[in-house]
Amino acid sequence: MRIATEEAFATPALIGAWRKLLDDGAPGESGFKLLIGFFLNPGVERAAIIGEQLLDLGELRLKHMDEGGVDKQLIFITSPGVQVFAADLGRRLAEEANDILSGAVRAHPDRFDGLAAIAPQAPDDAAKELERAKGLGLKGVVINSHTKGEYLDNAAYRPILEAAESLGMPIYIHPRNPPPSMLQPFAERHLERSLWGFQTETALHALRMIVSGVFDDFPKLKIVLGHLGEGLPFWLDRIDRHFSWGANSGDTVPFWTAKRPPGEYFLENFYIPSSGHNWDPAVRFVEEVVGEDRLMFAVDYPYENCRAQVDQAGAITLKNPEKFYHLNAERVFKLN
Ligand code: CA
Repeated sequence: MRIATEEAFATPALIGAWRKLLDDGAPGESGFKLLIGFFLNPGVERAAIIGEQLLDLGELRLKHMDEGGVDKQLIFITSPGVQVFAADLGRRLAEEANDILSGAVRAHPDRFDGLAAIAPQAPDDAAKELERAKGLGLKGVVINSHTKGEYLDNAAYRPILEAAESLGMPIYIHPRNPPPSMLQPFAERHLERSLWGFQTETALHALRMIVSGVFDDFPKLKIVLGHLGEGLPFWLDRIDRHFSWGANSGDTVPFWTAKRPPGEYFLENFYIPSSGHNWDPAVRFVEEVVGEDRLMFAVDYPYENCRAQVDQAGAITLKNPEKFYHLNAERVFKLN
C-alpha cells in the first residue's frame, strides 16, 4: 500500500480566473505573474501539466498512478489556488473546487482522498467552508502559503486555526512564490519558484507561526509541511539555540512570544511528507530528526513523475516503510 500525500489538481474555473487576473495585470501579485504566466504559456513544455494533468480527476491520473505504483493520492488544489483573488471570487472558486474534488473522491474512494480549498481572505467564511468540506468527506485543508503577503500568525486568521483544530482537520501549508516584498532578489536569478524560493518562503511561514506562539494557543493544531519540512529539520538545533539567546534579550521578546523552544512545537504539531524529495540521505536524516511517526511519502504529482519518485523512494533504507508509505497518512488525515 502506497499513499502519495501531496498531489495537485485544478478546476477549469480556477485556471480561467487565473488567466483573467493575468490579463488584468495581476496587481499586487508579481510573483504569481512569474509563476502562472510561465505555466499558462503554451510555448513552455511543462505548461502541458496545467492544461491536462491537473484538470484530470479520472482516467489519466489513475493511469499515471498505476504506472507509478501509487495506490492512493491525497489531492488538493494547486498553488497558489484561490489566494490571489478578491475574497468573494476566491470563496466561490474554493467552494466549487471542494464540490468537484469530493465528487471525484466519491467516484474513486479506493484511489483518491482530498483536502479542502478555502479563501483565507475572508477568514470567517473560510472557517465555515472548512466545516462544510468535512461534511463532504475532505480530510484537511491546504493553505498555499502567504495570502496577499500575510501569514497564518496574523490574528485575522484565528477563525481558520480554531476551525481546523476543533474539526481535527490538518492544515497543509504548501509553497507558492514569495510575496512582492520578498520577491526581487529571487526573481533576479529566477530562483523564485520550486528551485529555492518556494521552500524559503514556506519555511518562513511555519517559523512565524511557531515563534509567535500559535501552538501555545492551538496545541492540537496539526500542520503538514511538505518537501521534507521545507528544510526546517536540518535547522532545528541551530534554531533552538539561537531562539534561546534571543528570548533572553529584551529587544526581541515582543516578537518571539512562544513559550517553548521552536523545535518542540515542530516535533509535536508538524507532519512531514517527502514530496519531490525522495532522496535517500535527506529522507533518512529527516526520519532521524522527526521520528518515524511524522514522515510520510508523497510524489508531488503532476509536477513530479509518479514512477520516478516511487523508484527513488524504493532505494531508501527506512526504519519503518509501512509508516512512511501509508500508516502515518492514514492516522494523521483519518483516511478510511
Ligand atoms: Ca506540490
